[in-house]
Amino acid sequence: MVDVVDIKVGYSCNNDCFHCVIADKRRTLLKEEKSVDRSTKEVFALIDEAASDGATSIVLTGGEITIRRDIFEILDHVKSKNFHHINMQTNGRMFYYKEFVERIIQYPNVHFTVALHSIYEKDHDWITGSKGSFKQTTQGIKNMKVAGVNNRIGAKFVLSKKNFNIMPDMIKFTKELGCGSINIAFPHAMGNALLNFYNCIPKYSEIHESLTKAINVSKEIKQHVDFEAIPLCYLQENEAYASEFRMSDHTKLRDLSHSDENYTKTRKTTAKLKGPQCKECKYFLICEGPWDDYVHGYGFEDLVPVKGKQITNINELPSFKERAINGY
Ligand code: SF4
Repeated sequence: MVDVVDIKVGYSCNNDCFHCVIADKRRTLLKEEKSVDRSTKEVFALIDEAASDGATSIVLTGGEITIRRDIFEILDHVKSKNFHHINMQTNGRMFYYKEFVERIIQYPNVHFTVALHSIYEKDHDWITGSKGSFKQTTQGIKNMKVAGVNNRIGAKFVLSKKNFNIMPDMIKFTKELGCGSINIAFPHAMGNALLNFYNCIPKYSEIHESLTKAINVSKEIKQHVDFEAIPLCYLQENEAYASEFRMSDHTKLRDLSHSDENYTKTRKTTAKLKGPQCKECKYFLICEGPWDDYVHGYGFEDLVPVKGKQITNINELPSFKERAINGY
């Protein structure tokens, strides 16, 4: 049974991020003089399909969905289908405009995941390739908070060689801005991130210190944080901070270039890899390992098996006693 349907509405975007995973697909379509966006009718058809699949959650992403002229038609259509959870992934720049905020807050079931990649204007604008984007995104989050969208905004920080050392500061900054949580994602080397591989993708050993400090800061100031695509050997004793344990059991992906009927399975069995040494690790049965493209660039050498009896049930781990996960 499908839990989540992830719909990419198109590739148009008002940012051009250094780590963007769809930038190559957009360039290919533009070269072929094809549309980089789905039509309203096509988006509606995918929403209808998700509803008839019985999905409880829907993720709307792009590109940047908020710059579409039909954004409110799409939201009206989603609203009519009674999904339990609606997540919109956005760079939040449109929230800078109060008229836009007044309209979008009319959809109380929508949760917003807002991409923010630095505490510094200069660095964020460099990463997004868009001067002024930091000002718009940060003011946008504040505007949404003032409008009462308190616990429905989470930040998304894609770490890279340009910003991994500020992870602890990002935890504080997002709390001050009014984000209820922050998801810190290790970059997936596709699109621009692949093009910029050795300038963009850090090694796990490089980010370890900043990551550990970030977890400590999050505990101190009580800002919820989770980490995506970080092998458990780099989250030791904080395993419950791995976002994979909170992901759905069955996500269906509807990208423009391809569809995946069970992306969860693809992620666990194909898109991520473990090294030969992983068999000796106590996390072997519960860890997904890094993205395959990380291994293609850096090999397995940074994966460090953790000694101990193999863990089969995450509830055996103390970190899950602090951060219980429903369904486990
Ligand atoms: S199984 Fe491999 S990647 Fe996962 S924690 Fe252990 S050594 Fe690291």
